[in-house]
Amino acid sequence: MSVYNKYETVIGLECHVQLLTKTKMYSSDLAEYGAMPNTNVSVVTLGHPGTLPVVNKSAIEYAVKLGIATNSTIRYENQFARKNYFYADLPKGYQITQDKTPICNGGYISTKLKDGSELRVNLTRIHMEEDAGKSMHDIDPFNTLIDLNRAGTPLLEIVTEPDIRSGEEAYAYLTEVRKLVRYLDICDGNMEEGSLRCDANISVRLKGTSTFGKKVEVKNMNSFRNVQRAIDFEIKRQIDLIEAGEPIAVETRSFNAEEGYTFSLRSKESANDYRYFPEPDLQPVFITQEYIADVKSKMPILPNQLFERYTKEFKLSEYDANQIIDQKEIAFYYNKLITHTSNYKSAANWLLVNIKSYLNERALTIQELNFEPKKIAEIIALIDSGKVSNSAASQKLFPEMVNQPNRIAEVLAIELDLIQNSNSDELQSIIDNVLLKNAAKVQEYKNGKVGLLGMFVGEVMKESKGKADPKLANQLVKQSLEK
Ligand code: ADP
Ligand code: MG
Repeated sequence: MSVYNKYETVIGLECHVQLLTKTKMYSSDLAEYGAMPNTNVSVVTLGHPGTLPVVNKSAIEYAVKLGIATNSTIRYENQFARKNYFYADLPKGYQITQDKTPICNGGYISTKLKDGSELRVNLTRIHMEEDAGKSMHDIDPFNTLIDLNRAGTPLLEIVTEPDIRSGEEAYAYLTEVRKLVRYLDICDGNMEEGSLRCDANISVRLKGTSTFGKKVEVKNMNSFRNVQRAIDFEIKRQIDLIEAGEPIAVETRSFNAEEGYTFSLRSKESANDYRYFPEPDLQPVFITQEYIADVKSKMPILPNQLFERYTKEFKLSEYDANQIIDQKEIAFYYNKLITHTSNYKSAANWLLVNIKSYLNERALTIQELNFEPKKIAEIIALIDSGKVSNSAASQKLFPEMVNQPNRIAEVLAIELDLIQNSNSDELQSIIDNVLLKNAAKVQEYKNGKVGLLGMFVGEVMKESKGKADPKLANQLVKQSLEK
């Protein structure tokens, strides 16, 4: 047994979710991404003396939405607090955050792991705060440049309990967080652009131990994959140290994504003392039950609700349901599609196979697809009524339909000569002809060479120019041979 199997990993994640509000957390400056540097910076953002912050109502609403979606307890009296530190991208010299009174406590986020088992991660808290500006070290070779547009942008910080046990679980949890904030429409969930950020706290301990090991915090991972890689690296590093009898330093580390290792940034022993105190310029925000009920009544549909509906009501497989739900826009397309057809399974197949491969081949997103869900339903109806075969629909009708998205499926199918012959009288006469022409083979069949059935059906299909319904042809040929 490898030494690594003697240990258990303990992970807690801290995620920063950048909110999609129009304006900043405590000022009316625009909170837009990609504006000219230092243009969305009023005196409030810059922290000039005598200016006063005002809480952004939308940010409160977004926090309550996330609180409801994570089954959190939402606090009535919300204080803000100053977290004091000096940094060039923090013009005020402090960050307004929540310290002792986070808006949410005690919720959880559940997700499914690859093996189908359920992962439930309990949340310690979710609190509201503002972002700092951005220091750019790689634009000017001699100077650090500072863009204060991001200073004051609203954030929610989601802190988990130390419930996560592997890099794979961390990955699954983060994927669920991203899905959730996208469905809630409170954050674009784009980790590469920094609107979703994650720090990982990692420790290891011998299996069966009840106390936690010393933890290391890893920052600067810009993708879910890198969070998983950094965790996997850290687990091995920590176990190797323990096995060699070395101590684990309690510290903050960074991840080098090119080389795939973590390195020390700073020791926690010399950690900042932030001297939190209640923000004197802001009144507490009171969140009433009525307010929560109001937000609840306006909640969008969430991934787990869709999952229930798809698997229980529509009888989709869990796999298919998850494939659809994974991306909000795909799920919305499906939801529209099933208002036009009740063949839920076929609708899922068309979306996950035909539409998805069409999009993949052209590197398009579903939002860029100029093809109404209703049109897919028309194709499904043609197949279900036996007028067009499944393969003709996929290979001939669909590609032509997307090129002429306003045509009616049946009209186009007639034009393309795809309507299959399900008229059994006509089909029967084709079959009779084929059997007559192949009398010797028919005799062989009757003598026990039943493998010839496929050959007869193939001939019939050829004679019908591919328009016969293959299932029906099969049935009728068999009947005729056994007469
Ligand atoms: P700090 O004071 O260093 O910020 P916190 O107690 O606030 O630490 O916890 C921060 C995060 O670290 C939380 O997500 C928590 O679940 C996680 N955490 C706490 N202790 C451990 C540990 N021993 N191993 C791994 N993660 C931990
Ligand atoms: Mg902490």
